[in-house]
Amino acid sequence: MNPSITDVDAATLAAWLAQRGEPAYRLKQIRRAIAHSTAADFGGLTDLPLGLRGALAEAFRWSSVELATEVASADGETRKVLLRLHDGHHIESVLMPHHGERNSVCISTQAGCPMACAFCATGEMGLIRDLTRGEIVDQVRYWQRELRSRDDRVSHVVYMGMGEPLNNYGPVMGSVRALTDPELFGISPRRITISTCGIVPKIDALAEEGLPIDLAVSLHAANDRTRAMIMPVNRKWGVDDVLDASARYVEKTKRRLTFEYILLKGVNDSVADAERLGRRIAARGRTSMYHVNLIPVNAGPGGFERPSAEAMELFARTLESHRIAATVRISKGQDIAAGCGQLKVPEGRAAVPL
Ligand code: SF4
Repeated sequence: MNPSITDVDAATLAAWLAQRGEPAYRLKQIRRAIAHSTAADFGGLTDLPLGLRGALAEAFRWSSVELATEVASADGETRKVLLRLHDGHHIESVLMPHHGERNSVCISTQAGCPMACAFCATGEMGLIRDLTRGEIVDQVRYWQRELRSRDDRVSHVVYMGMGEPLNNYGPVMGSVRALTDPELFGISPRRITISTCGIVPKIDALAEEGLPIDLAVSLHAANDRTRAMIMPVNRKWGVDDVLDASARYVEKTKRRLTFEYILLKGVNDSVADAERLGRRIAARGRTSMYHVNLIPVNAGPGGFERPSAEAMELFARTLESHRIAATVRISKGQDIAAGCGQLKVPEGRAAVPL
């Protein structure tokens, strides 16, 4: 099978063009089209000569993802697509517009996920396979094409869909570089967020990349016993390991870091939990560099329930008493299972051959 054009780097494409005797400016033209054209295939790139369009179509695939199904939320804004990959596996990707001000896209980095967090539908699937750089980029490109057709564009990208991004480090970093490349998508790195369940060595590696992207670290509990119960990764890297790596990331990058904390009634939502969490974060110093997103659990595996609104507010205020900023965030698109922890390929679709 031919490679997808988004899996081909600039140097390889330049060499391919040179071999065909094409002028060097075609490289820029093609790369711009990859990111911004609304064409459905190479044939739609009418700025290019017919012969070149045909040769591109013979050598590369225009996209590595194909729409299987789409659902829209009742709020009229959030949309979720199920995308088919070339080998018949599927992934989900979500567009979350925010009142015409910005268009955030939540993308997947793996088909399924091996991390088995107790509250997460993706974790129930297990890992099917890592995505390639092109398969990650093409999710953004899918939404970019949709938005361009009404004169809009993707403004923010969050790596919070299916999979653990830092377990697929090379392709994920390749995709970040493609999305931030001014000759491709030109999205500011400050508008890109990578979320991790706490893969400590990879958090350290990310800090060395010199990319001013945002990092969101999923804590979900303030002590190892509870965290290990809901996040098996904690058996390898405990709360202190994750907090220390987060502090090193902040120190190295000078970027503010977000802790994600899913609130599960009767599991991790007590004032004592908030006290412990506040104390443990504050012990690392620089409290103004941290922010805690408190996310009431969405319907999903494990049968967890949300705490009351009062309990969530009390949790946030307790963190604030330790000078840790905290916000209660309700996921959008829950009615279409597009909220945090809800992405999952429908039964029977994960391994359907083409
Ligand atoms: S929450 Fe993230 S890391 Fe955990 S199982 Fe789900 S997708 Fe994987």
